[in-house]
Amino acid sequence: MIDDIILKDLRRVCDSLDERHFSGKKVLISGGAGFVGSWLSDALLDLGASVTCVDNLSTGQIANINRLLGHARFRFLKTDVVDFRADEKYEYLLHLASRASPEEYQLHPIDTLLANSLGSHTMLELARKMDCRIFYSSTSEVYGDAQIVPTPEDCWGNVNPIGPRSCYDEGKRFGEALFMAYKQEYGLDIRVARIFNSYGPRNRATGPYARVVSRFVQQALSGDPITVYGDGSQTRSFCYIADTILGLLMLLTARNAGGEVVNIGTSEEITILDLAKMIKGIAQSESRIVFCPLPAEDPRRRCPDISKAKRVLGWTPTISLNEGLKRTIESLGQHPCCSAS
Ligand code: UDP
Repeated sequence: MIDDIILKDLRRVCDSLDERHFSGKKVLISGGAGFVGSWLSDALLDLGASVTCVDNLSTGQIANINRLLGHARFRFLKTDVVDFRADEKYEYLLHLASRASPEEYQLHPIDTLLANSLGSHTMLELARKMDCRIFYSSTSEVYGDAQIVPTPEDCWGNVNPIGPRSCYDEGKRFGEALFMAYKQEYGLDIRVARIFNSYGPRNRATGPYARVVSRFVQQALSGDPITVYGDGSQTRSFCYIADTILGLLMLLTARNAGGEVVNIGTSEEITILDLAKMIKGIAQSESRIVFCPLPAEDPRRRCPDISKAKRVLGWTPTISLNEGLKRTIESLGQHPCCSAS
Protein backbone atom coordinates (compact mmCIF):
# COMPACT_ATOMS: atom_id res chain seq x y z
CA MET A 1 0.00 0.00 0.00
CA ILE A 2 1.37 3.33 -1.08
CA ASP A 3 -0.13 6.81 -1.19
CA ASP A 4 0.97 10.43 -1.56
CA ILE A 5 1.65 10.75 2.14
CA ILE A 6 3.99 7.76 2.19
CA LEU A 7 5.70 8.85 -1.06
CA LYS A 8 6.32 12.37 0.27
CA ASP A 9 7.63 11.04 3.57
CA LEU A 10 9.95 8.63 1.76
CA ARG A 11 11.27 11.43 -0.41
CA ARG A 12 12.04 13.55 2.65
CA VAL A 13 13.77 10.64 4.39
CA CYS A 14 15.89 9.81 1.32
CA ASP A 15 16.81 13.48 0.80
CA SER A 16 18.21 13.56 4.36
CA LEU A 17 20.57 10.61 3.76
CA ASP A 18 23.77 10.17 1.79
CA GLU A 19 22.97 7.80 -1.12
CA ARG A 20 26.58 6.66 -1.26
CA HIS A 21 25.98 4.51 1.84
CA PHE A 22 23.27 2.55 0.03
CA SER A 23 23.67 2.75 -3.73
CA GLY A 24 24.67 -0.64 -5.20
CA LYS A 25 24.64 -2.30 -1.74
CA LYS A 26 22.90 -5.63 -1.10
CA VAL A 27 20.64 -5.59 1.93
CA LEU A 28 18.77 -8.44 3.59
CA ILE A 29 15.79 -7.54 5.81
CA SER A 30 13.97 -10.06 7.97
CA GLY A 31 10.47 -8.78 8.63
CA GLY A 32 10.70 -6.61 5.53
CA ALA A 33 6.92 -6.78 4.88
CA GLY A 34 5.99 -5.55 8.36
CA PHE A 35 5.23 -2.00 9.42
CA VAL A 36 8.77 -0.71 10.07
CA GLY A 37 10.40 -3.26 7.73
CA SER A 38 8.34 -2.26 4.69
CA TRP A 39 9.17 1.42 5.18
CA LEU A 40 12.84 0.43 5.34
CA SER A 41 12.48 -1.72 2.19
CA ASP A 42 10.93 1.24 0.38
CA ALA A 43 13.58 3.71 1.51
CA LEU A 44 16.52 1.40 0.81
CA LEU A 45 15.29 0.73 -2.74
CA ASP A 46 14.75 4.43 -3.34
CA LEU A 47 18.32 5.00 -2.13
CA GLY A 48 19.68 2.59 -4.76
CA ALA A 49 20.18 -0.60 -2.72
CA SER A 50 19.13 -4.13 -3.71
CA VAL A 51 16.75 -5.50 -1.11
CA THR A 52 15.97 -9.11 -0.21
CA CYS A 53 12.96 -9.26 2.07
CA VAL A 54 12.48 -12.36 4.21
CA ASP A 55 9.07 -12.52 5.87
CA ASN A 56 6.73 -15.34 6.90
CA LEU A 57 3.75 -12.95 6.71
CA SER A 58 2.64 -13.84 10.23
CA THR A 59 2.12 -10.14 10.90
CA GLY A 60 3.65 -8.53 7.82
CA GLN A 61 1.40 -7.98 4.80
CA ILE A 62 1.92 -8.34 1.06
CA ALA A 63 -0.08 -5.13 0.67
CA ASN A 64 2.83 -3.27 2.32
CA ILE A 65 5.28 -4.34 -0.40
CA ASN A 66 2.95 -4.61 -3.41
CA ARG A 67 4.61 -1.68 -5.16
CA LEU A 68 8.04 -3.32 -4.74
CA LEU A 69 7.25 -6.81 -6.05
CA GLY A 70 7.98 -5.99 -9.69
CA HIS A 71 11.09 -3.95 -8.90
CA ALA A 72 14.32 -5.28 -10.48
CA ARG A 73 16.28 -4.73 -7.25
CA PHE A 74 13.69 -6.29 -4.93
CA ARG A 75 13.22 -9.92 -3.99
CA PHE A 76 10.63 -11.35 -1.61
CA LEU A 77 11.15 -14.71 0.10
CA LYS A 78 8.25 -16.05 2.13
CA THR A 79 10.26 -17.82 4.82
CA ASP A 80 10.54 -17.86 8.56
CA VAL A 81 13.76 -16.14 9.61
CA VAL A 82 14.53 -19.05 11.92
CA ASP A 83 14.83 -21.40 8.91
CA PHE A 84 16.45 -18.93 6.52
CA ARG A 85 19.72 -19.89 4.80
CA ALA A 86 21.68 -17.74 2.34
CA ASP A 87 24.73 -18.33 0.19
CA GLU A 88 25.14 -14.95 -1.43
CA LYS A 89 26.89 -12.05 0.20
CA TYR A 90 25.14 -9.00 1.62
CA GLU A 91 26.60 -5.71 2.85
CA TYR A 92 23.94 -5.08 5.51
CA LEU A 93 21.70 -7.47 7.42
CA LEU A 94 18.67 -6.05 9.24
CA HIS A 95 16.80 -8.22 11.72
CA LEU A 96 13.27 -6.97 12.33
CA ALA A 97 11.21 -10.16 12.14
CA SER A 98 9.07 -10.42 15.27
CA ARG A 99 5.53 -9.92 16.42
CA ALA A 100 5.32 -6.55 18.17
CA SER A 101 1.75 -5.89 19.23
CA PRO A 102 1.16 -6.83 22.90
CA GLU A 103 -2.22 -8.45 22.24
CA GLU A 104 -0.81 -10.48 19.37
CA TYR A 105 2.53 -11.55 20.85
CA GLN A 106 0.70 -12.77 23.94
CA LEU A 107 -1.29 -15.10 21.64
CA HIS A 108 1.98 -16.44 20.15
CA PRO A 109 4.56 -16.27 22.95
CA ILE A 110 6.74 -19.14 21.68
CA ASP A 111 6.98 -17.74 18.14
CA THR A 112 7.87 -14.37 19.59
CA LEU A 113 10.67 -15.79 21.73
CA LEU A 114 12.03 -17.87 18.86
CA ALA A 115 12.06 -15.02 16.31
CA ASN A 116 14.24 -13.02 18.68
CA SER A 117 16.45 -15.88 19.94
CA LEU A 118 16.83 -18.46 17.14
CA GLY A 119 16.03 -15.78 14.54
CA SER A 120 18.76 -13.53 15.93
CA HIS A 121 21.15 -16.47 15.98
CA THR A 122 20.42 -17.28 12.31
CA MET A 123 21.00 -13.68 11.27
CA LEU A 124 24.13 -13.26 13.40
CA GLU A 125 25.66 -16.47 11.98
CA LEU A 126 25.03 -15.14 8.47
CA ALA A 127 26.67 -11.83 9.39
CA ARG A 128 29.65 -13.64 10.89
CA LYS A 129 30.16 -15.80 7.78
CA MET A 130 29.75 -12.81 5.45
CA ASP A 131 31.68 -10.51 7.75
CA CYS A 132 29.05 -7.81 7.29
CA ARG A 133 27.32 -5.20 9.41
CA ILE A 134 24.13 -6.23 11.22
CA PHE A 135 21.27 -4.20 12.67
CA TYR A 136 18.75 -5.34 15.30
CA SER A 137 15.39 -3.73 15.97
CA SER A 138 15.00 -3.91 19.72
CA THR A 139 12.43 -2.08 21.77
CA SER A 140 11.63 0.22 24.65
CA GLU A 141 10.09 -2.92 26.19
CA VAL A 142 13.56 -4.03 27.31
CA TYR A 143 13.12 -1.38 30.03
CA GLY A 144 9.79 -2.96 31.08
CA ASP A 145 7.97 -0.71 33.55
CA ALA A 146 10.87 1.76 33.58
CA GLN A 147 11.92 3.25 36.89
CA ILE A 148 13.73 6.19 35.30
CA VAL A 149 11.75 8.32 32.83
CA PRO A 150 12.94 9.67 30.39
CA THR A 151 14.90 6.44 30.11
CA PRO A 152 18.53 6.44 28.98
CA GLU A 153 20.26 3.45 27.38
CA ASP A 154 22.25 2.62 30.52
CA CYS A 155 19.05 1.87 32.45
CA TRP A 156 18.86 -1.88 33.14
CA GLY A 157 15.11 -2.19 33.06
CA ASN A 158 12.37 -3.53 35.29
CA VAL A 159 10.96 -6.65 33.64
CA ASN A 160 8.92 -9.56 34.99
CA PRO A 161 10.64 -12.60 33.39
CA ILE A 162 7.48 -14.73 33.66
CA GLY A 163 4.84 -12.03 33.16
CA PRO A 164 2.34 -11.72 30.28
CA ARG A 165 4.71 -9.50 28.26
CA SER A 166 7.84 -11.51 29.01
CA CYS A 167 7.92 -13.35 25.65
CA TYR A 168 8.56 -9.99 23.96
CA ASP A 169 10.56 -8.21 26.66
CA GLU A 170 12.82 -11.15 27.43
CA GLY A 171 12.98 -12.22 23.78
CA LYS A 172 14.34 -8.78 22.86
CA ARG A 173 16.64 -8.73 25.89
CA PHE A 174 18.05 -12.11 24.86
CA GLY A 175 18.40 -10.83 21.28
CA GLU A 176 20.37 -7.82 22.49
CA ALA A 177 22.58 -10.02 24.69
CA LEU A 178 23.28 -12.32 21.73
CA PHE A 179 24.16 -9.36 19.50
CA MET A 180 26.57 -8.10 22.19
CA ALA A 181 28.08 -11.60 22.49
CA TYR A 182 28.80 -11.69 18.74
CA LYS A 183 30.39 -8.29 18.99
CA GLN A 184 32.57 -9.47 21.88
CA GLU A 185 33.55 -12.87 20.54
CA TYR A 186 33.79 -12.15 16.80
CA GLY A 187 34.20 -8.39 16.66
CA LEU A 188 31.01 -8.12 14.56
CA ASP A 189 29.83 -4.63 13.62
CA ILE A 190 26.43 -4.62 15.35
CA ARG A 191 23.95 -1.77 15.74
CA VAL A 192 20.91 -2.01 18.01
CA ALA A 193 17.96 0.39 18.02
CA ARG A 194 15.50 0.46 20.91
CA ILE A 195 12.37 1.68 19.13
CA PHE A 196 9.77 3.56 21.19
CA ASN A 197 6.14 3.37 19.93
CA SER A 198 6.45 4.19 16.25
CA TYR A 199 3.19 4.88 14.39
CA GLY A 200 1.92 6.03 11.01
CA PRO A 201 0.59 4.74 7.68
CA ARG A 202 0.64 0.90 7.39
CA ASN A 203 0.38 0.39 11.15
CA ARG A 204 -2.44 -2.14 11.45
CA ALA A 205 -5.66 -0.77 12.89
CA THR A 206 -7.91 -3.67 13.84
CA GLY A 207 -7.71 -7.03 15.55
CA PRO A 208 -4.88 -8.19 17.79
CA TYR A 209 -2.25 -6.67 15.46
CA ALA A 210 -3.49 -3.13 16.13
CA ARG A 211 -1.44 -0.64 18.07
CA VAL A 212 -3.09 2.15 19.97
CA VAL A 213 -2.68 5.06 17.52
CA SER A 214 -4.00 3.28 14.43
CA ARG A 215 -6.78 1.62 16.45
CA PHE A 216 -7.96 4.97 17.87
CA VAL A 217 -7.77 6.54 14.39
CA GLN A 218 -9.81 3.69 12.91
CA GLN A 219 -12.38 3.96 15.72
CA ALA A 220 -12.59 7.74 15.34
CA LEU A 221 -13.01 7.57 11.56
CA SER A 222 -15.72 4.93 11.71
CA GLY A 223 -17.61 6.57 14.60
CA ASP A 224 -17.02 3.57 16.89
CA PRO A 225 -16.26 4.06 20.60
CA ILE A 226 -12.60 4.88 21.30
CA THR A 227 -11.43 2.21 23.73
CA VAL A 228 -9.14 3.67 26.39
CA TYR A 229 -7.69 0.98 28.65
CA GLY A 230 -7.69 1.73 32.38
CA ASP A 231 -8.22 5.40 33.25
CA GLY A 232 -5.91 6.42 30.39
CA SER A 233 -3.33 8.01 32.69
CA GLN A 234 -0.54 5.71 31.45
CA THR A 235 1.82 7.45 29.04
CA ARG A 236 3.66 6.70 25.80
CA SER A 237 5.80 8.81 23.46
CA PHE A 238 4.77 8.36 19.84
CA CYS A 239 7.33 8.74 17.08
CA TYR A 240 6.12 9.16 13.48
CA ILE A 241 7.39 6.38 11.20
CA ALA A 242 9.32 8.67 8.83
CA ASP A 243 11.34 10.00 11.78
CA THR A 244 11.86 6.44 13.04
CA ILE A 245 13.24 5.06 9.79
CA LEU A 246 15.49 8.06 9.31
CA GLY A 247 16.96 7.35 12.77
CA LEU A 248 17.34 3.64 11.98
CA LEU A 249 19.11 4.25 8.67
CA MET A 250 21.41 6.80 10.30
CA LEU A 251 22.25 4.26 12.99
CA LEU A 252 22.91 1.63 10.31
CA THR A 253 25.39 3.84 8.47
CA ALA A 254 26.96 6.18 11.03
CA ARG A 255 30.72 5.72 11.13
CA ASN A 256 30.92 6.04 14.92
CA ALA A 257 27.91 3.82 15.77
CA GLY A 258 29.55 0.35 15.58
CA GLY A 259 28.59 -1.69 18.65
CA GLU A 260 26.13 0.94 19.89
CA VAL A 261 22.64 0.55 21.38
CA VAL A 262 20.54 3.66 20.78
CA ASN A 263 17.02 4.77 21.78
CA ILE A 264 14.98 5.87 18.77
CA GLY A 265 11.83 7.74 19.75
CA THR A 266 10.48 11.10 20.74
CA SER A 267 10.47 12.90 24.07
CA GLU A 268 6.91 14.19 23.49
CA GLU A 269 5.18 12.14 26.24
CA ILE A 270 1.37 12.00 26.35
CA THR A 271 -1.28 10.14 28.37
CA ILE A 272 -3.41 7.65 26.46
CA LEU A 273 -6.56 9.60 27.38
CA ASP A 274 -5.11 12.80 25.93
CA LEU A 275 -4.10 10.85 22.83
CA ALA A 276 -7.72 9.67 22.42
CA LYS A 277 -8.98 13.25 22.76
CA MET A 278 -6.40 14.55 20.32
CA ILE A 279 -7.26 11.96 17.65
CA LYS A 280 -10.99 12.57 18.14
CA GLY A 281 -10.37 16.30 17.69
CA ILE A 282 -8.16 16.08 14.60
CA ALA A 283 -10.49 13.55 12.94
CA GLN A 284 -13.51 15.71 13.91
CA SER A 285 -15.10 12.53 15.16
CA GLU A 286 -18.35 12.06 17.06
CA SER A 287 -17.01 8.85 18.68
CA ARG A 288 -17.49 8.42 22.42
CA ILE A 289 -14.47 7.68 24.59
CA VAL A 290 -15.10 4.53 26.64
CA PHE A 291 -12.98 2.99 29.39
CA CYS A 292 -12.05 -0.72 29.28
CA PRO A 293 -10.05 -2.91 31.67
CA LEU A 294 -6.32 -2.20 31.76
CA PRO A 295 -4.26 -5.20 30.51
CA ALA A 296 -2.05 -6.79 33.18
CA GLU A 297 1.38 -5.22 33.66
CA ASP A 298 0.79 -2.41 31.17
CA PRO A 299 3.81 -0.09 31.65
CA ARG A 300 2.83 3.14 33.49
CA ARG A 301 5.12 5.58 31.71
CA ARG A 302 7.29 5.38 28.64
CA CYS A 303 9.50 8.11 27.27
CA PRO A 304 13.04 7.82 25.91
CA ASP A 305 16.07 9.91 26.75
CA ILE A 306 17.28 10.57 23.21
CA SER A 307 20.45 12.49 23.98
CA LYS A 308 22.60 9.58 22.75
CA ALA A 309 20.84 9.53 19.35
CA LYS A 310 21.39 13.29 19.08
CA ARG A 311 25.05 13.02 20.07
CA VAL A 312 26.09 9.89 18.14
CA LEU A 313 23.86 10.13 15.07
CA GLY A 314 22.94 13.80 14.92
CA TRP A 315 19.33 12.55 14.74
CA THR A 316 16.34 14.13 16.33
CA PRO A 317 12.67 13.62 15.41
CA THR A 318 11.13 16.58 13.58
CA ILE A 319 7.49 15.61 13.02
CA SER A 320 5.22 16.67 15.90
CA LEU A 321 2.52 14.34 17.21
CA ASN A 322 -0.10 16.70 15.84
CA GLU A 323 1.40 16.61 12.33
CA GLY A 324 2.07 12.85 12.40
CA LEU A 325 -1.50 12.15 13.49
CA LYS A 326 -2.86 14.29 10.65
CA ARG A 327 -0.84 12.28 8.12
CA THR A 328 -1.89 8.97 9.72
CA ILE A 329 -5.57 9.95 9.73
CA GLU A 330 -5.40 11.05 6.10
CA SER A 331 -3.63 7.87 5.01
CA LEU A 332 -5.85 5.50 6.98
CA GLY A 333 -8.89 7.35 5.65
CA GLN A 334 -7.69 6.48 2.11
CA HIS A 335 -6.87 2.80 2.78
CA PRO A 336 -9.11 1.48 5.56
CA CYS A 337 -9.04 -2.07 4.10
CA CYS A 338 -5.24 -2.31 3.96
CA SER A 339 -4.85 -1.72 7.67
CA ALA A 340 -7.37 -4.36 8.63
CA SER A 341 -6.40 -7.57 10.37
N1 UDP B 1 -4.37 1.00 24.64
C1 UDP B 1 -5.64 1.51 24.86
N2 UDP B 1 -6.65 1.13 24.02
C2 UDP B 1 -6.46 0.28 22.97
C3 UDP B 1 -5.16 -0.22 22.74
C4 UDP B 1 -4.14 0.14 23.59
O1 UDP B 1 -5.85 2.29 25.80
O2 UDP B 1 -7.43 -0.01 22.25
C5 UDP B 1 -3.26 1.40 25.53
C6 UDP B 1 -2.45 0.25 26.10
O3 UDP B 1 -3.05 -0.25 27.28
C7 UDP B 1 -1.12 0.92 26.36
C8 UDP B 1 -0.99 1.95 25.24
O4 UDP B 1 -2.34 2.15 24.77
O5 UDP B 1 -1.13 1.59 27.60
C9 UDP B 1 -0.10 1.53 24.11
O6 UDP B 1 -0.54 0.28 23.64
P1 UDP B 1 0.08 -0.46 22.37
O7 UDP B 1 -0.64 -1.76 22.26
O8 UDP B 1 0.04 0.42 21.20
O9 UDP B 1 1.62 -0.72 22.68
P2 UDP B 1 2.55 -0.78 23.98
O10 UDP B 1 3.13 0.58 24.11
O11 UDP B 1 1.75 -1.16 25.20
O12 UDP B 1 3.56 -1.81 23.63
